Amino acid sequence: MTTVPTHQQWRPTTPSASAPSAASSSTASRSVEVASLPTEVTSVRAAPPDALSDAPPQNIDSRPTVDQAAAQRAVTDLLRALGRDPDSPHLRETPRRVAAAFAELLTPEPFTLTTFPNDHGYDELVLAKNIPFSSLCEHHLLPFSGVAHVGYLPGERIVGLSKLARVVRMFARDLQVQERLTTQIADFLAEQLHPVGVGVILEAEHLCMSLRGVRAPGSRTVTSRLLGALRDDPCIRQEFFARTGVTEA
Ligand SMILES: [Zn+2]
Repeated sequence: MTTVPTHQQWRPTTPSASAPSAASSSTASRSVEVASLPTEVTSVRAAPPDALSDAPPQNIDSRPTVDQAAAQRAVTDLLRALGRDPDSPHLRETPRRVAAAFAELLTPEPFTLTTFPNDHGYDELVLAKNIPFSSLCEHHLLPFSGVAHVGYLPGERIVGLSKLARVVRMFARDLQVQERLTTQIADFLAEQLHPVGVGVILEAEHLCMSLRGVRAPGSRTVTSRLLGALRDDPCIRQEFFARTGVTEA
C-alpha cells in the first residue's frame, strides 16, 4: 500500500477573516443498538440567530492515487506469506483485484461542496439521517460500516443536502478509526459552513470486532461530535439525539 495522506494535505482552505462559531466540541463513544432506517432529511426546532461569515463553494481535490502495481506485488507476497500459491489458477487474479479494491476504498470521489446563501434565514436544524457509509479500520485493514447522522444549524449559508452524504463518504474512504472519522466530518462542516452548530453521530459495526478478537457480531460502536449550539444548548442537543434515534448515555 502507498501512503495515505492526511486530512490536512488536501483540505481546502477557509477564509481567515471568518468568525469560527463552533470552537468547542465534545466527543463520546457508546455502544447501543439502533434500528437502521431509510435515509431521510428532516428539520426540527428553531435556533438562535448567529451571524457568521461566508464559506464559498470549495473544490475538494482527491488524494494522491494508490500505487496499484506496488500494492499488487505486496498482495502476491502476502499470499505467499500465508502459505498460498499466488500462481494457482484460483489466485492468479487476486493481487490485481485486491489492489484495485483498496484503491477504490481509499480514493475519495472529488466533489464541490456547493453552498448557498441562507437568504430566508432558515434557523432550524437540518438533519440527514441514516447515511450509509463504509470505511477501513486502520488497525486491521478490515471494513467497518454503518450509518451517519449529520446535522447542522445554518448560519449565513446552507449546503446542498446530498453534499452531507458526500462529505461522509469523502472522509470514510481512508484508513480510519471511527472517532477520527466522526471528528473530521464535523470539523469540516464547521470550517466550510460556519454554521451555528454541527452534530455528527456515527454508528458502525467493525468486522475486526465481529469476525475476530472478541467476536461480537451485531455490536455497534457509536461516536459523536457536537459543535457550537448543538453542544452548548441542552435543548437542541437533546432534540438532535432524539431525532437521530440515538440515546445519549
Ligand atoms: Zn480494527
